[in-house]
Amino acid sequence: MTVNLYSDTQTKPTAAMRRAIAAAEVGDEQRFEDPTTNALQERVADLLGHEAALFLPSGTMCNEIALRLHVRPAGDEILLGELAHPLRAEAGGPAAVSGAVLTVVPGEFGIFTGEALAARIVTDDRYRPRSRVVSVEQPTNTAGGRIWPLERVGGVLDVARDHGLRAHLDGARLPNACVASGVPASDWAAGFDTAWIDFSKGLGAPVGACLAASRELIDEAWRYKQMLGGAMRQSGILAAGALHALDHHWDRLGEDHANAKALADGLAQLAGVRIDAAALETNIVIWEVADALAFTAALRAEEVFVYALDAHRVRATTHLDVDRAAIDRALSTIRRVLSDL
Ligand SMILES: *Cc1c(COP(=O)(O)O)cnc(C)c1O
Repeated sequence: MTVNLYSDTQTKPTAAMRRAIAAAEVGDEQRFEDPTTNALQERVADLLGHEAALFLPSGTMCNEIALRLHVRPAGDEILLGELAHPLRAEAGGPAAVSGAVLTVVPGEFGIFTGEALAARIVTDDRYRPRSRVVSVEQPTNTAGGRIWPLERVGGVLDVARDHGLRAHLDGARLPNACVASGVPASDWAAGFDTAWIDFSKGLGAPVGACLAASRELIDEAWRYKQMLGGAMRQSGILAAGALHALDHHWDRLGEDHANAKALADGLAQLAGVRIDAAALETNIVIWEVADALAFTAALRAEEVFVYALDAHRVRATTHLDVDRAAIDRALSTIRRVLSDL
């Protein structure tokens, strides 16, 4: 039995999701004639407590377009946490698309304080890039899979507002944070100028993400969607998968968190593993081994897939297609591989 913990992007659409996709009513989304895409956008605007929303092919495009809305392409500065997705995994997009400088605000597991943000903001020094926007990744991904506490987000938003900065919420896995914390998505997204969720992570849809903001910002985001080739046609085929995911895969994320917890607790028993199992909050489990590349290669040979984040850190992500039996098999394989190494 293969155990694919490489990422929660690895899920395949369920039979029920495929039926919903097959039955989708469609039209030309660029002309606002796709009823399923329109319904999804309204649903997400509501969910995140913003005026409007825009369906996009990926979360990366949500980040890139949102950040472009907040800066001028003239050396403006985007402030964000360590190992944030736009830094690590968007091919330098903020520099290429927005002409912006990225500055890391130091913190722990990608989570920083309002004070740390304030110390990095520069708006009136002509030698320095001008700080324009702060981005919060909730929960953090490769920096630790941690949930920003709500007061911490509030502190960061207060500082941003005081300095005239915009605020962006990278909510790729916001549904996980909502289920784990019991805090509704609209509370997490309140106070941000732009916020988005991904359907192709834990929610288990094949494609898509949705960016929410004011009507005015979404109208402007449409220009960049068109420019970057993100405007689609009968996108209801994709939106139907996303709507099905919102209806059927949101509440069950707690199962992924329980499976992640079982994995983390099991790992904590093993010699050669460094992990803070008690800190686990979501579906992302990160631990350290002596040689992450050798470790992940040995696991791969046994059809257990995990992700080497760097020379020592390894990430496993639980999702819809991983049950407790798969976690048990992963753990016993990891135990054997570690003793062989
Ligand atoms: C996956 C991810 C993205 C990008 O989403 P895609 O749909 O893969 O383009 C952005 N931010 C975070 C935190 C992510 O985990």
